[in-house]
Amino acid sequence: MDQSVSCLFAPSKRCTQCGKEKLLTDFGMLTKGKNGRHPKCKACRNTYNRTHDKQHPEMKKARDARFLEKNPLFEKTRHAKWYKKNRHHSLETGRHYRQAHPEKGRERSKRYRTRHPERAKETRKNSYKKNRAYSNAKSKRWRENNVEQQQINNKNYRQAHPEKTKEHHQRRRAAKANAVINDLTHAQWIEIQVAQDHCCQYCQKRYKGKLTQDHILPLSKGGSHTLHNVIAACRSCNSKKHTGTVLCPVQPLLLTIAQAKC
Ligand SMILES: [Zn+2]
Ligand SMILES: [Zn+2]
Repeated sequence: MDQSVSCLFAPSKRCTQCGKEKLLTDFGMLTKGKNGRHPKCKACRNTYNRTHDKQHPEMKKARDARFLEKNPLFEKTRHAKWYKKNRHHSLETGRHYRQAHPEKGRERSKRYRTRHPERAKETRKNSYKKNRAYSNAKSKRWRENNVEQQQINNKNYRQAHPEKTKEHHQRRRAAKANAVINDLTHAQWIEIQVAQDHCCQYCQKRYKGKLTQDHILPLSKGGSHTLHNVIAACRSCNSKKHTGTVLCPVQPLLLTIAQAKC
C-alpha cells in the first residue's frame, strides 16, 4: 500500500549501484525490471559502459560496426541532422579555417572541381549570373594589373579556339554595323556550310573550309547577323556581290539544330 502511494505521488526508485533514490525517468526501460525500468540508473550505467568500452576497445569497435551494418544511413542522417541544426556554426567554422589556411581551401576546391567538373561549371555559371557586375569589375581589375599575362592568355585562347575568335570578330563587325539581331554562332555557321555541302551558294563550286559568310540582306542595309540571313559563298562571289543584291535567288536556311547564343 505504502509503495503504491509513493509511486502515485513520486514515481521513483532506488538505484542498485549508487543506492540513490531517483525519479523513474532516470532509469532506462526494461520490460522485466521493477516498474518496467532497469535496476541501475542511467548515470551509473553510462559510467559503467564508458569504462567497459575503454577497457575493451575491440568490443566497442565490433559493436559499432555491427550497428552501422544494420543502419547504413545512420552516420549520414546524424550528420544531416546536426548540420541542419548547426548550419550557421558549421559555415562560420569553415570560413575561419579557410581564412587561416588559404592554401588548404584552394586545394580542397581544386579536388572538388576535378571530381565534379560539371557541377563546378554550373556553380561558376550561376555565381557569375548572380554577381555579374562584381565579377566583371574583378576581372577588369585583374586585367589592368596583369597586362602582360593577359596578352599571353589571350594569345593562347585564340590559338586554342580559332573558331571562337572568328565568331567574335564577325559579331563585332555586325555590332559596328548596328545589326538588329546579332546571334550567329560558330556551330550554326558550320551547320550552314554542311547544309550547302561546302559549296558556294552562287557559283555552286565546292570550297571546303574556304567559304565566307555572306549576309543575304547586307549588314550595311540593316541586315542581321543571324542564321536566316547568312549563307556560305566563295570569296570571289562574295566580293562580286559586295553590298548589292543577291547574285541569284537564295532560300535562307531554316535550320534549328544549333542553338543561338542567348
Ligand atoms: Zn545509480
Ligand atoms: Zn562562288
